[in-house]
Amino acid sequence: MEFEVSKKPARWEAYDREHIWHPYTSMTRPLSTYAVKAANGVYLRLTDGRELIDGMSSWWTAIHGYNHPRLNAAIERQLKSMAHVMFGGLTHKPAIALAERLIGLTAKPLQHVFFCDSGSVSVEVALKMAVQYWYARGRADKKRMLTVLGGYHGDTFGAMSVCDPVNGMHQMFTGMMPRQLFASMPQCDGDKWDDAWIFELKALLETNRDEIAAVIIEPIVQGAGGMRIYGAEYLRQLRRLCDANDVLLIFDEIATGFGRTGRLFAYQHADVVPDIICLGKAMTGGYMTLAATLTTSRVANGISADGSGVLMHGPTFMANPLACSVAAESIDLLLETPWQERVHAIEAQLLKELEPCRQLPVVSDVRCIGAIGVVETRIAVEMPWMQERFVENSVWIRPFSNLVYIMPPYIITEDQLSKLTSAMKTVLAEWSERIDKI
Ligand SMILES: *Cc1c(COP(=O)(O)O)cnc(C)c1O
Repeated sequence: MEFEVSKKPARWEAYDREHIWHPYTSMTRPLSTYAVKAANGVYLRLTDGRELIDGMSSWWTAIHGYNHPRLNAAIERQLKSMAHVMFGGLTHKPAIALAERLIGLTAKPLQHVFFCDSGSVSVEVALKMAVQYWYARGRADKKRMLTVLGGYHGDTFGAMSVCDPVNGMHQMFTGMMPRQLFASMPQCDGDKWDDAWIFELKALLETNRDEIAAVIIEPIVQGAGGMRIYGAEYLRQLRRLCDANDVLLIFDEIATGFGRTGRLFAYQHADVVPDIICLGKAMTGGYMTLAATLTTSRVANGISADGSGVLMHGPTFMANPLACSVAAESIDLLLETPWQERVHAIEAQLLKELEPCRQLPVVSDVRCIGAIGVVETRIAVEMPWMQERFVENSVWIRPFSNLVYIMPPYIITEDQLSKLTSAMKTVLAEWSERIDKI
């Protein structure tokens, strides 16, 4: 059998359109895609030769930029000894070296690691840990999750059940998915605090504490559910409420981990320690898919307390050595660079350069934290038009719904970042005029 299409670049795009699903797209009316030939530093090179400055870090992952010599070398080194072996009954140095780093960098009580193949799976594992913990303690009734509106935790069923019910299209899956409890979005603004901001969550916790296994939340920044930022005091209050009501606390740091918000982990803004934490995305520096769920000895030992108590999970590619090696190298690289200064400098520049967007009639809000810059628009953006305009401006920025946002690689220079922010201003201004005319 011969495969013709792959020999004819002119036909690639048509083949892609007809046969391949992209994230959240229709097979019959797909959005356009751009073919990438190579990626280097902060640049994506398209097959037609155009070069784009990457504002997305490939969805929070490529914190050191693309094609990094040290990360390449780490994978090549590992490849020479083994690409993969099963993790059942076997172990290896890459997994141990990575576990040591994750345990060393996160809060002291988090001492036990479960390696997963994606962020969504690490959330499934976190939910299972919480349910199994209470089950082993004779509390089989504690199986539900409490979370807040506007969250995003992944696309598998358990993870979806704790995503925002509207964004996550819960009505489409009624009956297939556990029904969780939702409180309003975290309201907390800066250092201010008002008990009213957590009143609803508190009431839900107190009323349903006998059914609730855990609260799950993205600390400080709600990512794909709406790119909202909230204050640290909310997390401190939440920790207290969870303790008072015998409920575990899960932090989903899949988007925020590894420096993105200006602290290595977002929970450090609040100095609050969760019972379970999910890590992923930037963990491998954007090279491979890998995630981890960490928990405390109390939870780990608790799960095992009822005799048979094994944690009921074991992915085929668990702790893949290539992924673990590049993750350990990415962490070392991060710690050896002045990442915190860079992220703070990016934050200051984003605040300064995106602020003028607020003057545009289509813009309802501008907000930044760490290396994340968000412009919220009053109505949902015209995706295909806006995407094309960004590419024509030599930047890769992928808006969704009413959010035009960037989270660039930390290695981005001041000039390169200015190109991203000016493209945002230019294109949003054009769009303002465009919708005025319609
Ligand atoms: C991306 C993301 C996930 C899901 O991770 P995948 O690797 O896409 O499965 C879960 N939680 C948060 C906060 C995320 O940003």
